[in-house]
Amino acid sequence: MTRRKKMVERVTELMDKPERIRNIGIVAHIDHGKTTLSDNLLAGAGMISEELAGKQLFMDSDEEEQARGITIDASNVSMVHTYAGQEYLINMIDTPGHVDFGGDVTRAMRAVDGAVVVVDAVEGTMPQTETVLRQALKEGVRPVLFINKVDRLVNELKVDQQEMQIRLGKVIDKVNKLIKGMNEKMYNDGWKLDAAKGTVAFGSALYNWAVSVPFMQKSGVSFKDVFEKCNSGDMKWLAKNSPLSEVLLDMVVKHLPNPTDAQKRRIPIIWHGDKETPEGLSMMNCDPNGPAALMVTDISFDPHAGEVATGRLFSGTLRRGTELYVMGTAKRANRLSQVGIFMGAERIEVEALPAGNIAAVTGLKDAIVGSTVSTMMDITPFEALKHYSEPVMTVAV
Ligand code: GDP
Repeated sequence: MTRRKKMVERVTELMDKPERIRNIGIVAHIDHGKTTLSDNLLAGAGMISEELAGKQLFMDSDEEEQARGITIDASNVSMVHTYAGQEYLINMIDTPGHVDFGGDVTRAMRAVDGAVVVVDAVEGTMPQTETVLRQALKEGVRPVLFINKVDRLVNELKVDQQEMQIRLGKVIDKVNKLIKGMNEKMYNDGWKLDAAKGTVAFGSALYNWAVSVPFMQKSGVSFKDVFEKCNSGDMKWLAKNSPLSEVLLDMVVKHLPNPTDAQKRRIPIIWHGDKETPEGLSMMNCDPNGPAALMVTDISFDPHAGEVATGRLFSGTLRRGTELYVMGTAKRANRLSQVGIFMGAERIEVEALPAGNIAAVTGLKDAIVGSTVSTMMDITPFEALKHYSEPVMTVAV
């Protein structure tokens, strides 16, 4: 069996097990390292070759894949990560860091349940860190923190080990202050970031290493090692002994919610229909057997397949031929011609796609970004996607 076939099997097996799924976004102020992090996570999880990571060429060196001329959509990717002996499917939605793309961050936050907030260790939090964090909390999306570019603290600012740790602590305090100011209830309910608990990681996306307190306890790698290896330029030692993808994805699996848990909390925030209706109950429970409820968060064009609608399936199961209605349009059935899921940066067709996943489908003629789509002709639509700019301006997208 080729490597690709094996991967397809692993992905399709995991998509039926919501407790093994994490839907996440990476959010950051521009230049803080979101792209570098995303690429190196994909490479670390074996979804793209390490040589190509960082070049944004989400292609596999596998000859079979090259020959097939796959069209890829780099804005949605997935990876399989093993944590505590079990495999997890991690779906990652791209969120442009530039402020002009605020609307895209909004859409992405609707599709995911957790966010990795990336902050440059030298620059600290910036205005867009605030914007994206606010957007995540508004959508009920749980954050963890990655403090990136730790190498710069040592090599550019020439801090000593103590000062390095103090500065890292200050970044955590600042992000916590933001979370508390934005939503004190969430902060008190355990969303406060805490390095000791493992909801913060530190590292260098560029040099492919990261540490977290739980990982340091397990591996024996210490802040002293981090400081000394940065100081002597031995990034390879850190990348080998404290690999970025392992530390980051362990944090994602352990601390960000699976779709079943997340939907219980998120549905009341993003959907204001009656929770006792069949669709309400089904969404609250992420039930694959209930009526389908899909929120479209992106529409792209694929030269082979035509218009592809991507979105979060909160309830039900989608199959080729499923007839769906797009709320707010003429009540005519849209028949799905393809139902897909992401594997790496590639869209693969599947027979049946259950609730809790990010779906990529064709045939939804009437849908636009923001559409609520269901097998029922008339359900309450999801909350409209709103982008909250700093400090108070609100723009509907
Ligand atoms: P984005 O705008 O958030 O996607 O940021 P990029 O991933 O494009 O990174 C912005 C710049 O920071 C690039 O020049 C990267 O090479 C650099 N960079 C990213 N991560 C690190 C890091 O850990 N250390 C250092 N020194 N540079 C980094």
